[in-house]
Amino acid sequence: MARGKQIYEGKAKILYEGPEKGTLIQYFKDDATAFNNKKKAVIDGKGVLNNRISEFILTQLNQIGIKTHFIKRLNMREQLIKSLEIIPIEVVVRNIAAGTFSTRLGISEGTELTKPILEFYFKNDELGDPLVNTDHILTLNWANQDELSFISEQALRINDFLVGVFRGIGIKLVDFKLEFGRFWNGEDSEIYVADEISPDSCRLWNIKDEKKLDKDRFRRDLGGLVEAYQEVARRLGIMPEGTNIKEIKTGITKITLKKK
Ligand code: UDP
Repeated sequence: MARGKQIYEGKAKILYEGPEKGTLIQYFKDDATAFNNKKKAVIDGKGVLNNRISEFILTQLNQIGIKTHFIKRLNMREQLIKSLEIIPIEVVVRNIAAGTFSTRLGISEGTELTKPILEFYFKNDELGDPLVNTDHILTLNWANQDELSFISEQALRINDFLVGVFRGIGIKLVDFKLEFGRFWNGEDSEIYVADEISPDSCRLWNIKDEKKLDKDRFRRDLGGLVEAYQEVARRLGIMPEGTNIKEIKTGITKITLKKK
Protein backbone atom coordinates (compact mmCIF):
# COMPACT_ATOMS: atom_id res chain seq x y z
CA MET A 1 0.00 0.00 0.00
CA ALA A 2 1.37 3.39 -0.97
CA ARG A 3 2.35 5.45 2.00
CA GLY A 4 2.40 9.22 1.77
CA LYS A 5 4.79 11.67 3.27
CA GLN A 6 6.05 11.38 6.82
CA ILE A 7 4.04 13.58 9.12
CA TYR A 8 5.50 12.74 12.54
CA GLU A 9 8.36 10.80 14.06
CA GLY A 10 8.07 9.77 17.69
CA LYS A 11 10.37 7.74 19.93
CA ALA A 12 9.18 4.31 18.81
CA LYS A 13 6.93 5.01 15.81
CA ILE A 14 6.65 7.03 12.62
CA LEU A 15 3.39 8.26 11.13
CA TYR A 16 2.91 8.65 7.37
CA GLU A 17 -0.03 9.96 5.41
CA GLY A 18 -2.35 7.10 4.53
CA PRO A 19 -3.79 6.07 1.17
CA GLU A 20 -7.14 7.79 1.83
CA LYS A 21 -8.15 11.00 3.55
CA GLY A 22 -8.56 10.45 7.29
CA THR A 23 -6.10 7.54 7.41
CA LEU A 24 -2.48 7.26 8.49
CA ILE A 25 0.15 4.54 8.36
CA GLN A 26 1.78 3.81 11.71
CA TYR A 27 5.30 2.33 11.39
CA PHE A 28 6.82 0.54 14.40
CA LYS A 29 10.56 1.17 14.83
CA ASP A 30 13.01 -0.96 16.82
CA ASP A 31 14.08 2.05 18.88
CA ALA A 32 13.67 1.86 22.63
CA THR A 33 13.81 4.90 24.87
CA ALA A 34 13.29 5.41 28.59
CA PHE A 35 13.57 8.09 31.26
CA ASN A 36 12.32 10.81 28.93
CA ASN A 37 14.73 9.91 26.12
CA LYS A 38 17.86 9.84 28.33
CA LYS A 39 18.36 6.13 27.70
CA LYS A 40 18.24 4.88 24.12
CA ALA A 41 18.89 1.67 22.18
CA VAL A 42 17.87 -0.16 19.05
CA ILE A 43 16.47 -3.60 19.82
CA ASP A 44 16.16 -5.75 16.69
CA GLY A 45 12.68 -7.17 16.29
CA LYS A 46 10.89 -5.05 18.93
CA GLY A 47 8.85 -3.10 16.34
CA VAL A 48 7.66 -6.28 14.62
CA LEU A 49 6.43 -7.75 17.91
CA ASN A 50 4.74 -4.55 19.09
CA ASN A 51 2.97 -4.14 15.75
CA ARG A 52 1.60 -7.66 16.06
CA ILE A 53 0.70 -7.54 19.79
CA SER A 54 -0.94 -4.12 19.49
CA GLU A 55 -2.93 -5.30 16.47
CA PHE A 56 -4.19 -8.25 18.50
CA ILE A 57 -5.20 -6.19 21.54
CA LEU A 58 -6.82 -3.33 19.62
CA THR A 59 -8.75 -5.83 17.48
CA GLN A 60 -10.08 -7.46 20.64
CA LEU A 61 -11.11 -4.04 21.98
CA ASN A 62 -12.89 -3.26 18.70
CA GLN A 63 -14.72 -6.59 19.07
CA ILE A 64 -16.08 -5.66 22.50
CA GLY A 65 -17.31 -2.31 21.21
CA ILE A 66 -14.42 -0.08 22.25
CA LYS A 67 -13.56 2.17 19.33
CA THR A 68 -9.88 2.35 18.44
CA HIS A 69 -7.91 3.93 15.62
CA PHE A 70 -6.77 0.51 14.34
CA ILE A 71 -8.05 -0.45 10.86
CA LYS A 72 -5.72 -3.24 9.72
CA ARG A 73 -2.15 -4.46 9.84
CA LEU A 74 -0.39 -3.95 6.52
CA ASN A 75 2.88 -5.82 7.01
CA MET A 76 5.51 -6.68 9.62
CA ARG A 77 5.99 -3.12 10.77
CA GLU A 78 3.05 -1.08 9.55
CA GLN A 79 -0.62 -0.71 10.32
CA LEU A 80 -3.34 1.41 8.76
CA ILE A 81 -5.05 3.63 11.33
CA LYS A 82 -7.68 6.35 11.48
CA SER A 83 -6.33 9.85 11.81
CA LEU A 84 -7.41 11.34 15.16
CA GLU A 85 -6.97 14.64 16.90
CA ILE A 86 -4.83 13.43 19.78
CA ILE A 87 -5.83 14.52 23.29
CA PRO A 88 -2.58 15.56 24.99
CA ILE A 89 -2.91 13.30 28.02
CA GLU A 90 -1.53 9.89 28.85
CA VAL A 91 -3.92 7.83 30.93
CA VAL A 92 -2.24 5.30 33.21
CA VAL A 93 -4.24 2.53 34.89
CA ARG A 94 -2.57 0.77 37.82
CA ASN A 95 -3.52 -2.52 39.47
CA ILE A 96 -0.28 -3.15 41.35
CA ALA A 97 2.24 -0.58 42.62
CA ALA A 98 5.32 -0.22 40.39
CA GLY A 99 7.52 2.32 38.61
CA THR A 100 6.97 6.01 39.31
CA PHE A 101 3.95 5.24 41.52
CA SER A 102 6.19 3.30 43.89
CA THR A 103 9.00 5.84 43.88
CA ARG A 104 6.70 8.88 44.18
CA LEU A 105 4.61 7.49 47.05
CA GLY A 106 7.07 5.11 48.71
CA ILE A 107 4.87 2.06 48.19
CA SER A 108 6.84 -1.10 47.49
CA GLU A 109 6.67 -2.57 44.02
CA GLY A 110 4.29 -5.49 43.88
CA THR A 111 1.79 -4.10 46.42
CA GLU A 112 -1.69 -4.99 45.12
CA LEU A 113 -4.03 -1.99 44.97
CA THR A 114 -7.52 -2.61 46.38
CA LYS A 115 -9.00 -0.97 43.31
CA PRO A 116 -7.49 0.26 40.04
CA ILE A 117 -6.00 3.76 40.19
CA LEU A 118 -6.28 6.13 37.23
CA GLU A 119 -3.61 8.75 36.65
CA PHE A 120 -3.27 11.44 33.99
CA TYR A 121 -0.04 12.86 32.61
CA PHE A 122 0.34 15.87 30.31
CA LYS A 123 1.93 14.64 27.06
CA ASN A 124 4.88 16.98 26.77
CA ASP A 125 8.43 15.64 26.35
CA GLU A 126 10.09 18.97 27.19
CA LEU A 127 8.35 18.96 30.57
CA GLY A 128 8.89 15.22 31.09
CA ASP A 129 5.16 14.33 30.93
CA PRO A 130 4.13 15.80 34.32
CA LEU A 131 1.39 14.23 36.44
CA VAL A 132 -1.82 16.29 36.29
CA ASN A 133 -5.33 16.03 37.71
CA THR A 134 -8.81 16.38 36.21
CA ASP A 135 -8.94 20.11 37.06
CA HIS A 136 -5.85 20.72 34.94
CA ILE A 137 -7.37 18.81 32.04
CA LEU A 138 -10.70 20.67 32.18
CA THR A 139 -9.40 24.17 32.95
CA LEU A 140 -6.65 24.00 30.37
CA ASN A 141 -9.21 22.69 27.84
CA TRP A 142 -7.37 19.51 26.92
CA ALA A 143 -10.72 17.70 27.13
CA ASN A 144 -14.25 18.61 28.23
CA GLN A 145 -16.16 16.99 31.09
CA ASP A 146 -18.07 14.53 28.87
CA GLU A 147 -14.88 13.49 27.12
CA LEU A 148 -13.01 13.07 30.39
CA SER A 149 -15.80 10.96 31.93
CA PHE A 150 -15.90 8.80 28.82
CA ILE A 151 -12.10 8.41 28.77
CA SER A 152 -12.06 7.39 32.45
CA GLU A 153 -14.88 4.85 31.96
CA GLN A 154 -13.22 3.41 28.86
CA ALA A 155 -9.84 3.15 30.61
CA LEU A 156 -11.34 1.15 33.48
CA ARG A 157 -13.33 -1.05 31.10
CA ILE A 158 -10.21 -1.74 29.02
CA ASN A 159 -8.38 -2.56 32.25
CA ASP A 160 -11.07 -5.08 33.34
CA PHE A 161 -10.96 -6.72 29.96
CA LEU A 162 -7.16 -6.84 29.65
CA VAL A 163 -6.64 -8.06 33.23
CA GLY A 164 -8.76 -11.08 32.22
CA VAL A 165 -7.02 -11.61 28.87
CA PHE A 166 -3.59 -11.59 30.51
CA ARG A 167 -4.64 -13.63 33.54
CA GLY A 168 -5.83 -16.29 31.08
CA ILE A 169 -2.27 -16.63 29.78
CA GLY A 170 -0.55 -16.58 33.17
CA ILE A 171 0.38 -12.89 33.19
CA LYS A 172 -0.43 -10.11 35.69
CA LEU A 173 -1.31 -6.75 34.16
CA VAL A 174 0.47 -4.47 36.64
CA ASP A 175 -0.20 -1.15 34.88
CA PHE A 176 -0.47 0.31 31.40
CA LYS A 177 -0.77 3.56 29.48
CA LEU A 178 -3.51 4.61 27.08
CA GLU A 179 -3.88 7.50 24.68
CA PHE A 180 -7.11 8.79 23.20
CA GLY A 181 -8.08 11.04 20.30
CA ARG A 182 -11.10 12.65 18.67
CA PHE A 183 -12.44 11.16 15.46
CA TRP A 184 -14.21 13.97 13.66
CA ASN A 185 -17.29 13.42 11.55
CA GLY A 186 -18.43 16.85 10.35
CA GLU A 187 -19.21 18.88 13.46
CA ASP A 188 -19.29 15.82 15.75
CA SER A 189 -16.44 14.02 17.36
CA GLU A 190 -16.14 10.68 19.12
CA ILE A 191 -13.38 9.48 21.42
CA TYR A 192 -11.25 6.62 20.10
CA VAL A 193 -8.32 4.73 21.63
CA ALA A 194 -5.09 5.77 19.86
CA ASP A 195 -1.40 4.84 19.80
CA GLU A 196 -0.51 1.25 20.78
CA ILE A 197 -1.06 -1.25 23.58
CA SER A 198 2.02 -3.44 23.78
CA PRO A 199 4.71 -4.55 26.25
CA ASP A 200 6.27 -1.10 25.63
CA SER A 201 3.27 0.54 27.29
CA CYS A 202 2.22 -2.12 29.83
CA ARG A 203 3.87 -3.76 32.82
CA LEU A 204 3.38 -7.50 32.48
CA TRP A 205 4.61 -9.95 35.13
CA ASN A 206 4.62 -13.69 34.70
CA ILE A 207 2.27 -14.99 37.43
CA LYS A 208 4.42 -18.02 38.26
CA ASP A 209 7.69 -16.26 39.05
CA GLU A 210 6.98 -12.50 38.63
CA LYS A 211 9.42 -12.39 35.70
CA LYS A 212 9.06 -9.08 33.88
CA LEU A 213 7.80 -9.49 30.31
CA ASP A 214 7.78 -5.79 29.36
CA LYS A 215 9.91 -2.71 28.73
CA ASP A 216 11.30 -2.77 32.27
CA ARG A 217 13.73 -5.36 30.83
CA PHE A 218 15.25 -2.43 28.92
CA ARG A 219 14.71 0.30 31.55
CA ARG A 220 16.41 -1.84 34.21
CA ASP A 221 19.05 -3.49 32.00
CA LEU A 222 17.64 -6.98 32.55
CA GLY A 223 18.27 -8.15 28.96
CA GLY A 224 16.10 -10.58 26.98
CA LEU A 225 13.53 -8.01 25.86
CA VAL A 226 12.75 -9.53 22.47
CA GLU A 227 12.50 -13.00 24.01
CA ALA A 228 10.05 -11.65 26.63
CA TYR A 229 7.86 -9.87 24.05
CA GLN A 230 7.95 -13.00 21.91
CA GLU A 231 6.77 -15.02 24.91
CA VAL A 232 3.81 -12.64 25.35
CA ALA A 233 2.96 -12.97 21.64
CA ARG A 234 3.26 -16.75 21.77
CA ARG A 235 0.96 -17.02 24.80
CA LEU A 236 -1.59 -14.73 23.15
CA GLY A 237 -1.60 -17.29 20.32
CA ILE A 238 -0.38 -14.90 17.66
CA MET A 239 3.02 -16.33 16.81
CA PRO A 240 3.07 -19.18 14.33
CA GLU A 241 4.53 -22.28 15.96
CA GLY A 242 8.21 -22.62 15.27
CA THR A 243 8.91 -18.94 14.65
CA ASN A 244 12.29 -18.15 16.09
CA ILE A 245 13.83 -14.91 17.23
CA LYS A 246 16.21 -14.75 14.27
CA GLU A 247 13.24 -14.82 11.91
CA ILE A 248 11.53 -12.01 13.81
CA LYS A 249 14.67 -9.90 13.75
CA THR A 250 15.25 -10.34 10.05
CA GLY A 251 11.56 -10.10 9.26
CA ILE A 252 11.77 -13.09 6.93
CA THR A 253 8.86 -14.97 8.44
CA LYS A 254 5.52 -13.40 7.60
CA ILE A 255 3.54 -13.39 10.84
CA THR A 256 -0.10 -13.98 10.00
CA LEU A 257 -3.17 -14.00 12.17
CA LYS A 258 -3.90 -17.49 13.42
CA LYS A 259 -7.51 -18.35 12.50
CA LYS A 260 -9.62 -19.08 15.57
N1 UDP B 1 4.17 4.39 30.21
C1 UDP B 1 4.26 4.54 28.84
N2 UDP B 1 4.76 5.71 28.33
C2 UDP B 1 5.19 6.73 29.11
C3 UDP B 1 5.12 6.56 30.52
C4 UDP B 1 4.60 5.39 31.04
O1 UDP B 1 3.87 3.66 28.09
O2 UDP B 1 5.61 7.76 28.59
C5 UDP B 1 3.62 3.14 30.78
C6 UDP B 1 4.71 2.28 31.41
O3 UDP B 1 5.19 1.33 30.50
C7 UDP B 1 3.96 1.61 32.54
C8 UDP B 1 2.88 2.62 32.93
O4 UDP B 1 2.73 3.48 31.82
O5 UDP B 1 3.32 0.43 32.09
C9 UDP B 1 3.23 3.41 34.17
O6 UDP B 1 4.50 3.97 34.02
P1 UDP B 1 5.22 4.76 35.21
O7 UDP B 1 4.42 5.99 35.54
O8 UDP B 1 5.49 3.84 36.33
O9 UDP B 1 6.54 5.34 34.58
P2 UDP B 1 7.86 4.62 34.03
O10 UDP B 1 8.37 3.72 35.13
O11 UDP B 1 7.43 3.91 32.80
O12 UDP B 1 8.78 5.78 33.75
